[in-house]
Amino acid sequence: MGKFPVADAAMLKVWVCKKCKARNPAHSKTCRKCFGSHLRPKRQRKKETKG
Ligand SMILES: [Zn+2]
Repeated sequence: MGKFPVADAAMLKVWVCKKCKARNPAHSKTCRKCFGSHLRPKRQRKKETKG
């Protein structure tokens, strides 16, 4: 997890459209921008960088 728990929670509430990469509210059925249905949770994080 990151430095700020609140920020981490907020990150998980964002879903990203695979088609146009627009950010959508969590558990959206369709993208608000392109109306595509291919959404994924914004969670693809790499290694934690050491401070
Ligand atoms: Zn979209």
